[in-house]
Amino acid sequence: MTEHLQFSPKAKEGVVVVGAGLAGLFTALKLAPLPVTVISAARFGEGASSLWAQAGIAAALSEGDTPEAHAADTIRAGDGIVEEKIALLMAREARERIEDLLSYGVPFDKDLEGHLALGREGAHGRNRILHVKGDTAGRAIMHALTEAVRQTPSITVLEGLFARDLVLHEGRVCGVELAPGEESMARSFILAANAVVLATGGAGQIYAMTTNPREARGEGVAIAARAGAVIADAEFVQFHPTAMDIGRDPAPLATEALRGEGALLINAQGERFMRAVHDDAELGPRDVVARAVYDEVMSGRGAFLDCRPLGTAMPEHFPTVTAACRAAGLDPMREPIPVAPAAHYHMGGILTDSTGRSTVNGLWACGEVASTGAHGANRLASNSLLEAVVFGARVASDIASCWHPAGPQAATQIAQLSAVEKVCSSDDRAERTLRLTMTQEVGVIRDGASLRTALGTIAALEGKTAGNRRLANMLVTAKLITAAALVRQESRGAHFRRDYPLPDQRFARRSYLTLDQADAIAAEASEAAAASGHAALSA
Ligand SMILES: Cc1cc2nc3c(=O)[nH]c(=O)nc-3n(C[C@H](O)[C@H](O)[C@H](O)COP(=O)(O)OP(=O)(O)OC[C@H]3O[C@@H](n4cnc5c(N)ncnc54)[C@H](O)[C@@H]3O)c2cc1C
Repeated sequence: MTEHLQFSPKAKEGVVVVGAGLAGLFTALKLAPLPVTVISAARFGEGASSLWAQAGIAAALSEGDTPEAHAADTIRAGDGIVEEKIALLMAREARERIEDLLSYGVPFDKDLEGHLALGREGAHGRNRILHVKGDTAGRAIMHALTEAVRQTPSITVLEGLFARDLVLHEGRVCGVELAPGEESMARSFILAANAVVLATGGAGQIYAMTTNPREARGEGVAIAARAGAVIADAEFVQFHPTAMDIGRDPAPLATEALRGEGALLINAQGERFMRAVHDDAELGPRDVVARAVYDEVMSGRGAFLDCRPLGTAMPEHFPTVTAACRAAGLDPMREPIPVAPAAHYHMGGILTDSTGRSTVNGLWACGEVASTGAHGANRLASNSLLEAVVFGARVASDIASCWHPAGPQAATQIAQLSAVEKVCSSDDRAERTLRLTMTQEVGVIRDGASLRTALGTIAALEGKTAGNRRLANMLVTAKLITAAALVRQESRGAHFRRDYPLPDQRFARRSYLTLDQADAIAAEASEAAAASGHAALSA
């Protein structure tokens, strides 16, 4: 990694944290009393995946469990390319970070004796998931953290602003370009910073079917890549097998825990199709279930989650899912829920080391936008909230270790700007084309031809962004994911190639890509696609 410069003792700009989800807020709190400005694209406390986390956060806290066992499960789920040291340090630091969350007031569920209650989730060998009131962990954690931020005078929150680029001076990040919307470049401005932390979350919104909020467009990956940062494991996108296919964007999630409690996957004929696919049927690995659900949907047989076996446990244990069904006019206690796989979590992202440093001087990243190597080719359920807090704390401690005292600290302020994004209809069309292309060609099942088609469409759309910075950023991230998927000529974890359906030892390693390299791969692939007559989707 690049040797980061020391901060100027005279500089008073402070740290800019882009993103107000769990990773961003935790970093800001851990940086106190250093002056921090948090950029929130949506209104403070909204527009973050962290809010929607239903299952909870993993930590090896139960009797007989160990961080080593947690790391071993994480490494197994990651299918051969997890950074083992990183997985271990994450599991080891879980206890301290959970204590932090408790100190910020997170009301984790407790048993009758007042001990933390730990639930079980697929592929975890032990009970190690901390919940809050069934499926509301994300909301409760974020509520506690937003309150803690409001009480912290060294943190300023700017709402309704989107980071569109990084500002570099002599190879070092020294600020962020921010814009309140899409309309015109004239309205963007630069916020100077001694250090920038990207905590912008995932990239689900570059897919047509996703569980991620509207703000999760992968812009953090794009702006870091444009600044020269190395992007790791970009091809690994986890598709959740059971997003509710009820015409909503984003698609509400029917959490895996439902299947853990007895919900069944059936097709329109009422057949339990998972029995023929995996020994564990509905409780098989997430990527296997996602592909089976995808097959049923594509074959026209349809896929449904039958929650009727849960009876009254459904509204009691899963209030969020029940409410989403009812809002769509569905009664999950009487009828099966239509489901489809949806882009859910990006294992790839900005390559960071164990302190959260990127390969660009002055730039740190944490949370879903970063690629620490903890997840490998497939994230183990409930490890992402843990990764956000473990690496948020590490980023803060690294920045603090090279900080010089600056000027007086500001009182906490929450400045509200226009959060309304205005995008004209042709941009809407381009965005729809991109999202559809990613779902169809770079989705649950890919192959060389589909990936080349996607790169062709992305190239065509790039010629039509006409100053739309948001779309331009989405295209950069889409290109990085697609180019990395094309290079990985094997199937591993969440990345499944129809033309290379098995893992290949030669690829049993992480992938690293710069934007220049992705551009070169895309140019070559577009030419090959054109030569072989594969038309890109009309842009
Ligand atoms: C429905 C759902 C359920 C999940 N359940 C679980 C679970 O039970 N357990 C678990 O461990 N993980 C779960 N995950 C994954 C987990 O929620 C996320 O990986 C994690 O919350 C990411 O945290 P983050 O802070 O990195 O990103 P986020 O919480 O998404 O926050 C990103 C922030 O960046 C902002 N932002 C984005 N782009 C820009 C920009 N250009 N400029 C400025 N700001 C920007 C966003 O508005 C937001 O404030 C779930 C995810 C989803 C979608």
